[in-house]
Amino acid sequence: MAIVTDPTVTSAMTDAELRAAVRRFVAEAYDPALTLAQWWERLADSGWAVPTWPREWHGLGLPGAAARTVAEELRAAAVPGPPAGLGLLLAGPTILAHGTDEQKARYLRPLVDGREAWCQLFSEPGAGSDLASLQTKAQRDGEEWIVNGQKVWTSGAQSADFGMLLARTDPEAPKHRGISYFAFPMDQAGVEVRPLKEMTGRSLFCEVFFTDARVADADCVGGHGAGWIVANTTLAAERAGLGVGGSGSAGGGFPGRKAGMLDLVVGELMAGAQAQAAQATRAERGGVLMRRVARELGVADDPLVRQELAQAYILEEVGRMTSLRAKHLRAAGSGLPGEGNLAKLQMSRVLRHGRDLGPAIIGPYGTLLGAETPGEGNFQEATIWAPGPSIYGGSDEIQKNILGERVLGLPKEPGPDKNTPFRDLLVGTQAH
Ligand SMILES: Cc1cc2nc3c(=O)[nH]c(=O)nc-3n(C[C@H](O)[C@H](O)[C@H](O)COP(=O)(O)OP(=O)(O)OC[C@H]3O[C@@H](n4cnc5c(N)ncnc54)[C@H](O)[C@@H]3O)c2cc1C
Repeated sequence: MAIVTDPTVTSAMTDAELRAAVRRFVAEAYDPALTLAQWWERLADSGWAVPTWPREWHGLGLPGAAARTVAEELRAAAVPGPPAGLGLLLAGPTILAHGTDEQKARYLRPLVDGREAWCQLFSEPGAGSDLASLQTKAQRDGEEWIVNGQKVWTSGAQSADFGMLLARTDPEAPKHRGISYFAFPMDQAGVEVRPLKEMTGRSLFCEVFFTDARVADADCVGGHGAGWIVANTTLAAERAGLGVGGSGSAGGGFPGRKAGMLDLVVGELMAGAQAQAAQATRAERGGVLMRRVARELGVADDPLVRQELAQAYILEEVGRMTSLRAKHLRAAGSGLPGEGNLAKLQMSRVLRHGRDLGPAIIGPYGTLLGAETPGEGNFQEATIWAPGPSIYGGSDEIQKNILGERVLGLPKEPGPDKNTPFRDLLVGTQAH
C-alpha cells in the first residue's frame, strides 16, 4: 500500500483539524498485522513521523507545537509512535540544521523509518560536564580520518549503526575550536563496544574504544573545527527532549537491526505495551502510589512520613503548574526562559525525594526486589534509578550554570580556556 503525504495538511490548520488528519491517516494506514518496520515506513512516507520537519526532508512543515498534538493522537489511537532512541531525537535535528544535502539524503530517511539506530559519542573519562576538553582524536588520511581514543556512558552503543562522534581534529586550536563532528559508522574493526553493568542490573550504556577506526571526510557534519557549534544543536535538542519527556513515542520501539524489534508484529507489540502502560500509570503517579502503600502499611499517620507525603504532593503540583505556565506562555507566542533546564531540575528533585521517601515507607521491604513487595517493586526500582537523570543531559549543577549565564545574564566563569591552544591546556586526564 503506497502512502503519500496528505495535501490538505497545512500549518494553518486548527488543532481539531490536525487531530482529525492524524486519525484519518491511522484509519487508512494502520493494520495490526504489519511488522514494526512496515508501520514505521508508512509513518515516514506520510510525514507524520516528523511532522515539524520540512516537507523535502520527510516532514510536513508544521509548527513546533504540532509535535505534541500528533504524538497525543497516535497514543490515543493505540498505534506505535515513531522510533524511540537518539537518532530521531538528536542526530536528525542536528543533520537537518548543519548537514549537507548529501548527508541529509544519506542519513535522515533511515533514522526516521527506524532502519538505522544512532548513539551519542560525546562523553569521555575526562570530559563530561566540561565536554570541550575531549581528547579522542581524528587525524586526516586522504579522504578519511583515523580515530583513536575512548568514549564512556554511551547509551545504546551496543545496537547503534552510527554514532554522533565528537573528535579533536586540531590540537593547535583553542579547545572549543579544534573539535569536529562526524556521522561515524560503528560496525568496523577499529571499534570495540563494552557494555557497562549499572546498579539497576541492566546495561543501558557502554564504553567505546577506537583504535585506528575510520570515518570519511564526507561524513564530517558542519565543517572542520565547527564541532562545538554542531554539538550545541544536539545538546539543545537533548534538553528540549528531556524537558518534554522524550520523543513522545507511543508504545515504544527501538530502531535498527541489532535492537531486534523491526520484525515484531505491531498488534502484538501494542497489546504488550498497553498492559505495561496500565501498570506504569500507577508507578508514574509516584505520590498516589506512595500514599496508598503508606496507608496499607499503617505508616501514613507517622508525623515524619506524613510531612514528606505532603512535600511529594507539593513538588508534583509545582511541576504541573510550571508546565501549565510554560504552555500558556508558548501559546501566547513567548515562552518560559530556561524551560527545559527548569523541567529537568524539577524532575531530578522529585526523583531524589522519592528515592528517600519510598524506602522510609516500605522499611525492610526496601532490601527486596520484585513485584510481590509493597508498591509492586516500584520504590526499589525508582531508588536505584534516581541518580541517573540528575547526571545525564547535563548534571543539575550544569543546568543551574546555564540558567545563571544564559537566562539571568550572570558572567561566565573566568579561565584560560578560550584562547589557549588545546595542547597547552591541562584538561581531563592530562591534569593529573
Ligand atoms: C544514564 C546516563 C546516560 C548517559 N548517556 C550518555 C550518552 O549516550 N552519550 C554521552 O556522550 N554521554 C552520556 N552520559 C554521560 C553524561 O552526559 C555525563 O555523565 C555528564 O555530562 C556528567 O559528566 P561526568 O560524568 O564526567 O561528571 P563530571 O563532569 O566529572 O562532574 C562531576 C560532578 O561535578 C559537577 N560539576 C562539573 N563541572 C561543574 C561546574 N562547572 N560547576 C559546578 N559543578 C560542576 C557535576 O555537576 C557533578 O556533580 C550519560 C550519563 C548517564 C548517567
